[in-house]
Amino acid sequence: MRQSPDAPDAAHKPALRAIPPGLHFIATPIGAARDITLRALDVLAGADVLVAEDTRTLRHLMEIHGVPLGGRQVIAYHDHSGEGALARLLALIGEGKSVAYASEAGTPLISDPGFELARAVAAADLPMTAAPGPCAAICALTLSGLPSDRFLFAGFPPAARGARRSFLAELAGVQATLIFYESPKRLRQLLADMVETLGEGRQGAVCRELTKRFEEVSRGTVGQLAADFADRDVKGEIVVLVDRAPPPEASAESIAAALGAALATMSVKDAATFVSQTLGVSRKIVYRIAIDLDRD
Ligand code: SAM
Repeated sequence: MRQSPDAPDAAHKPALRAIPPGLHFIATPIGAARDITLRALDVLAGADVLVAEDTRTLRHLMEIHGVPLGGRQVIAYHDHSGEGALARLLALIGEGKSVAYASEAGTPLISDPGFELARAVAAADLPMTAAPGPCAAICALTLSGLPSDRFLFAGFPPAARGARRSFLAELAGVQATLIFYESPKRLRQLLADMVETLGEGRQGAVCRELTKRFEEVSRGTVGQLAADFADRDVKGEIVVLVDRAPPPEASAESIAAALGAALATMSVKDAATFVSQTLGVSRKIVYRIAIDLDRD
């Protein structure tokens, strides 16, 4: 059970309102139990059927927040529960029941079960909604100090070294902040492999035990982080983030080629903005080349 034992929230009484038919994904805390939304509590209080990856964790969370089970059973379900379990949930939703689904912690589907269920509900064109909330990847991105305009959530890297290095090498050129989940047992190896595959100079962050008592955010270059954690025995839950690759060097020829293609469908101004952003080159330089090309 990952929720900290915060006191029940006496101020908020979950409303026993009718919850509309359909599937309701709810996000649950990644540490601090009070990080649950009022809407999620309302869904838990009023849904006809409660479904969870871990039934004990959900029951405990409801107890903390004073949400009565009211005789409802909590059904266990995850993406490998099989066709029969999935068909049973689809039948309940099809009958017009409101069904709440929570994974063990955070947002369902994010390195957690829920995808198979969402896909089946979408395919059957049944109603589905989500009460959004905590997600370790987003919390870590917020605290990392790294660019948040574009990011790529890469989930858990493979545990085997060779597969992990190929996985990292594939992501090396991506022009976005990279976000990984990792077990504390493998943090050291992951950082060492990042030095080899992504380079030691990129900025990164290791976010540990977010929203919990021993929350810790370490920032620095990948090389510094690898050295800092090389002889530390860390515990708890971890998110690792790495800044995007430096933009590839662009030559006058590659700028002209990219502009040639862009000018076929865009104005000079738009083509210059697009190419400068794509290649990471000053817009002033690109604009000058674009005017020359357009004149020719
Ligand atoms: N669904 C969850 C979410 O929305 O973030 C993720 C579930 S995944 C099974 C568990 C992983 O998420 C952990 O191994 C860790 O990498 C990350 N994680 C979850 N809670 C965390 C926390 N409080 N601090 C740091 N990382 C966390």
